[in-house]
Amino acid sequence: MLLDAHSHLDLYADALDSALEEIRQHCILTVSNSLGLESYQRNLEIAQVCDWVLPIFGVHPWFAPEYVDRLDDLTKAIEQSPMLGEIGLDHHFVEDASQYAAQREVFEFFLSAAKEQGKVINLHTKGAEREILDLLDQYGIRGAIVHWYSGPLDVFREWVARGAYFTIGVEVLYSEHIRTIAREVPAEQLLTETDNPGGPKGWIGGPGMPRLIVDVVKGVADARKTTAEAIMQTVQANFARLVRDDPRLVEACARFPGGLNGE
Ligand SMILES: [Zn+2]
Repeated sequence: MLLDAHSHLDLYADALDSALEEIRQHCILTVSNSLGLESYQRNLEIAQVCDWVLPIFGVHPWFAPEYVDRLDDLTKAIEQSPMLGEIGLDHHFVEDASQYAAQREVFEFFLSAAKEQGKVINLHTKGAEREILDLLDQYGIRGAIVHWYSGPLDVFREWVARGAYFTIGVEVLYSEHIRTIAREVPAEQLLTETDNPGGPKGWIGGPGMPRLIVDVVKGVADARKTTAEAIMQTVQANFARLVRDDPRLVEACARFPGGLNGE
C-alpha cells in the first residue's frame, strides 16, 4: 500500500475517473484535502465511489477571505471531518498582506476546534512556518501533518522536536533543500504526498496523476539511501500509528481495502 497524505481529488474534473483507477490499481490510500465547503462536498462524493479516499475538511488560506465573515457556517463540516485540512497560513504565494488577518482568523477558528475535538490537522505553512509553530504551541496542538515543508531548516528542526509528521512530495526529485529535509525527518515522522493535481504542475509540467506517488517514494528512498519498499513500510506504519491514536480516524479508515496494517 502507498500513502498520499495530501492530495486534492476534487480538483481533477474530467480526469477524475482515470485518477481513481490509478488509485485502485496502485493501492494508494489518499487523504483528499479540501479548500472550502464546496470542495469538501465534492470530496465526500468521491469517497463514496472509492474506498481508498479519506475526505477531510479545511479552508485553504488562499480562500480565507471568503469565509472569515461566516465562520459559523464551518462548524458542521469541522465536526463531521475526522481530520482537518488543508488549513494554515500563506505569506509566500499570497503577497497581499491585507489578507493575512483573515487567514489568521480562519486558521485560529480551526485550531481551537482541533484542540477541542482532539483532531489531527493537515497544514499549509508557506512563508509562515515560525508563526504557525508558535500558534500550535499556543493552542497546545500536537497532532500535525506538515504538508510540503520548504521553509528554513532551523524552524524545521523545531517542528521535528515537537513530533510533527512531514509529507514529502515531488520536489524531493528536484531540490537539494527538500532532499535535506527528506533525509533529516526522523523515520517515525515521515509521510508521503503528491499535492495533486495542481501542486506538481511547476515541477512536472502538467497536473499530477496519483501514480506520481511511486516516483516520490523512490525520491525519498534515494535521499535516505534506502529502498522504496522500506519507505513504503515506514510510511504505512506511521500512518497506521497516527490513525490508531484517534478513534474517529480508526472509524473513517475502517473501510480501506485490506485495512491499515504496518504496526
Ligand atoms: Zn494542498
